[in-house]
Amino acid sequence: MTERVKVAIVGSGPAGLTAAIYTARANLEPVVIEGEISSTSDQPGGQLMLTTEIENFPGFINGIEGPELMGNFKAQAERFGAKIHSAKVSRADFSQRPFKLWTSDQTDETEPAYIADSVIISTGARSLMLGLDREIELIGHGVSTCATCDGFFFRGREIAVVGGGDSAMEEAIFLTKFASRVYLIVRRGELRASKIMAERAIKNEKITIVWNSVVSKLNGESALTSIELTNTLDSTTRQLDVSGLFVAIGHVPNTDIFQSQIEMDENGYIITSNGTYTSVDGVFACGDVQDHTYRQAITAAGSGCMAAIDVERWLENQH
Ligand code: NDP
Repeated sequence: MTERVKVAIVGSGPAGLTAAIYTARANLEPVVIEGEISSTSDQPGGQLMLTTEIENFPGFINGIEGPELMGNFKAQAERFGAKIHSAKVSRADFSQRPFKLWTSDQTDETEPAYIADSVIISTGARSLMLGLDREIELIGHGVSTCATCDGFFFRGREIAVVGGGDSAMEEAIFLTKFASRVYLIVRRGELRASKIMAERAIKNEKITIVWNSVVSKLNGESALTSIELTNTLDSTTRQLDVSGLFVAIGHVPNTDIFQSQIEMDENGYIITSNGTYTSVDGVFACGDVQDHTYRQAITAAGSGCMAAIDVERWLENQH
């Protein structure tokens, strides 16, 4: 059955749930279509569900775990009456107002699940993968994009993390709580990570950095048993016996379902202007789906607040 709403929020990371708190408190009775549980960052709560301790979110003197923080965001949004719908948006039609949204749990797709006066897109970004044979098949069988979710399974084992950015440093440091050794596979001779994170990883005795190397093959039948590394300078290969491989090489925006309906940049990030306005009047975007520069929980939450205020004012002007 189709439901008519004033505001539909697509995505439930810090941006979407902040927009939900603000629009709910403005009596706009938002629905948050939160996404579906998955093994990647494309899931309810967004990327912070795959993070460990967050030390830089203001207000938490001693830090807070990512999933706990997102649980708080959600409970706060629900407290003010935001409705949370556990499904993904499978299709959107922004060609005319009111907008139409279909969801992944619909049995009958002849009618949309929601007809919305306004839409806030806060679908975030997801983890990039290496593109190796059997990489996806081995997710949950040695390959992971989530140290928080899967680190526990590698107690006392030797594992590898790929990437040279802050995500890779964070994952590698966290994984030393469980693994006997963490190999950090870096494709260049230097790290992209911030100085403080890089230093923490370099100083950690359980982390061995393997410079100028890429993962070229995944070995193992039902589960990962080793990886092949190729040296980027001389093309020599070597085998590394690890039972876990954590891929932490960056992110891509979750905008596939909005392709050709809304203006995006060459990397698929939604283009916003004048705050959170998009190329479609009545559709707003906030968080990592429109920001590849800052990508922080606090900036995502801040832009979620902006989207809520933009929507509120826009709706007022419509009536
Ligand atoms: P980044 O884009 O910063 O880093 C990606 C890393 O993966 C780079 O080192 C890149 O190598 C490497 N890489 C990319 N593709 C491949 C490949 N196919 N094979 C091997 N290596 C590859 O992404 P992050 O997710 O690390 O960070 C994104 C943003 O989020 C950053 O701004 C970061 O600062 C922030 N962040 C902050 C955190 C914090 O403060 N606690 C935690 C996590 C992220 P190369 O360097 O050669 O390009």
